Amino acid sequence: MAGRLPGGRVSGSPETSPRAWGSFRLRLTLGAGGLALCTLLGVGLYAARLATLERERFGGYQLLSAARSAAFGLASRLQEREKEIEILGRVPSLAENPLDSERVARSLALRKETNAEYAWMGVASLDGRVLNATGGLLLGADVRARPWFSAGLVGFHTGDVHEAALLAELMGERAPGGEPPRFIDLATPVIGPAGEVRGVLAAHVHWDWIAAALRRAVHEDPTAAQTEVLILGRDGSVLYPLRPPGTPLPGAPGLDRFGMQADPGGSTFLVARARVPATQHSDLGWSVVLRQPSAAATAPVLQLRDRLFMIGLAASLIVAALAYVLAARISRPLERLVTAVKAVREGRGGAAAFPRDGGSPEITALSDAVRVMTETLLDREARLEQANAHLEETVAERTRQLSRANDELARLAAQDALTGLANRRAFEQRAAEEQARSRRSGSGFGLLLLDIDHFKNVNDRFGHATGDRVLQQIARLLESSIRETDLAARLGGEEFAVLLPELGERADTMRVAEKIRETIQHHDFGGIGEVTVSAGCAWADGSAVPVSAALQQADLALYEAKGQGRNRCVAARGFQPG
Ligand code: GH3
Ligand code: MG
Ligand code: MG
Repeated sequence: MAGRLPGGRVSGSPETSPRAWGSFRLRLTLGAGGLALCTLLGVGLYAARLATLERERFGGYQLLSAARSAAFGLASRLQEREKEIEILGRVPSLAENPLDSERVARSLALRKETNAEYAWMGVASLDGRVLNATGGLLLGADVRARPWFSAGLVGFHTGDVHEAALLAELMGERAPGGEPPRFIDLATPVIGPAGEVRGVLAAHVHWDWIAAALRRAVHEDPTAAQTEVLILGRDGSVLYPLRPPGTPLPGAPGLDRFGMQADPGGSTFLVARARVPATQHSDLGWSVVLRQPSAAATAPVLQLRDRLFMIGLAASLIVAALAYVLAARISRPLERLVTAVKAVREGRGGAAAFPRDGGSPEITALSDAVRVMTETLLDREARLEQANAHLEETVAERTRQLSRANDELARLAAQDALTGLANRRAFEQRAAEEQARSRRSGSGFGLLLLDIDHFKNVNDRFGHATGDRVLQQIARLLESSIRETDLAARLGGEEFAVLLPELGERADTMRVAEKIRETIQHHDFGGIGEVTVSAGCAWADGSAVPVSAALQQADLALYEAKGQGRNRCVAARGFQPG
């Protein structure tokens, strides 16, 4: 009884388990962790994107710088060779000795041996005949048609890269990869002691050798890892590495610029192109191109991004763990509150079960409010139940009283007030019931009508009150003369009736009537003398004849008894007393 709230529920909300998946604790944990992860990943990715762009820009400048330095190196290497040949054209050994002399031959050979970039050196006479040459190659050949010869007669000449099939064949050389070797021609006039031109000194410089040296120099730079080195000609066609003549480099940036180049294969490259500066004697219009896969350029950024991702993940886990602890601190008191409410609802505890400390002022206040509300409700419920119990008791008492009053009323309605016998209404009802029963059983019942003889005299002589007493005494005599199952009634005035069911035979009716008459006659009514009665007897059976007809017959018989002199019993006409 105590502890149950009215209605059996604390609230109309459905049952919720605090440990369900949608619990506050789990939601806060996932929410905070997810938010932290999203924020950190977002910031990380944005930073990585910025860093990528910055890295590309920085990488571009770096690559351009490397290309510039390579281009400068290439120019200075070329200039060195040019200077060397120019000086060689004026050294005394060539200026003062016959051009076909052994001295000149030694000078050329010495120079070629000193520098491996030279493929061939030779001198030609003013009429275009080779007078001396390293390795004896092209000795005596007519070189008038060669561009270097005609240019070398008038000044220093540097010729662009070209293949020299004849020379290559004579030298028996093939470039790496089986390609025919290519050369750069350098030519200068051989000046005599008087400043006169004596012939032309020419050198073929290994192009591939120079380019490979350049490539090695680039690769020594650690920032130029995986970098491809290309040299483009004035028209933008690729001179190195070897491609078919005139092959352009698609997507090459402008001179002294860098940019991104998309490969048809799908990969992107960071490309920088630097112009090779002019030398003292030549401006061949070459440019050095460095090409690096963009992944290599952005590799440090990707590392940074991965690191940021890991940091973000770790931070999110930490935030989620902190959120879990925080949520637990908030939700635990709430769960205790829910448990207490359940206990109260199931009648397992009272308001004392509510936690006093909610962990935070708000939850403590909530707990207090729920506890006070529960106390109020439980108190009201107890009082209501008490009032109910009291009310039920009152109602039961009132019902009992009413029932008693009803019984009394029914009794009074069926009873004669003066004598306590059944009244006419009760008698007629009982007679009708008996007739219905007789109809089923086939048996009949006897009826007596009695009337006090000359009763008026009693009243007249002894007073109405004595008359009343006589009526009461006769009633007692009637009752004592019949059986339990019989019924005596006062029909009105000084007239009585008796109903006699379950008689052994019809004659018993007359016998009972006679017995009553005698009992009354011999009764001592206390100083008023003899009181007699006349009786009419009738028999009612289970036939369709109404009981009122039998009563009427008895009445006629009574009338007859009066007529015959009173104090006698007369059977109704047609009544066969057995
Ligand atoms: P009979 O032998 O012909 O029956 O004569 P009777 O005097 O008994 O008949 P009657 O009908 O002339 O008178 C009946 C009397 O019964 C009249 C009345 O005063 C009296 N009586 C009727 N009811 C009561 C009653 O309740 N109390 C008293 N004391 N007298 C009553
Ligand atoms: Mg009468
Ligand atoms: Mg009478």
